[in-house]
Amino acid sequence: MHEMSIAMDVLKIVEEHLPSHGARVKKISLKVGKLTAVIPDSFKFCMEAITKDTAAEGAEIAIEEVPLRVECEDCGAESELLEPLFICPKCESLKLRVISGRDLLIESIEIEESDMEELGHGDQGR
Ligand SMILES: [Zn+2]
Repeated sequence: MHEMSIAMDVLKIVEEHLPSHGARVKKISLKVGKLTAVIPDSFKFCMEAITKDTAAEGAEIAIEEVPLRVECEDCGAESELLEPLFICPKCESLKLRVISGRDLLIESIEIEESDMEELGHGDQGR
């Protein structure tokens, strides 16, 4: 599944950014470009599934959809495309440059330092 492999990439990046053992991810904010074809609901579902037993388990997943914006190389018009049909709405040119909406970005990761007891590890926290 498309969303699943992206979710795994996101989780990998999130885990690389965790400051220390015992930290938990509270919230992951993402900007999802329309052109990525990621469906927010199914992406959230994938995230929930793969974060089980990780530091990101139960983290809130906030997804902001980024519209697909293009600039026409012929008439210079900047337009928002509602569907991935690469035609300038002004002059019908096909020479369009994507300005935004192509990428999936992790905007922020909120981390909560855990002060919970670690089960089975005596000297860890309290
Ligand atoms: Zn144009």
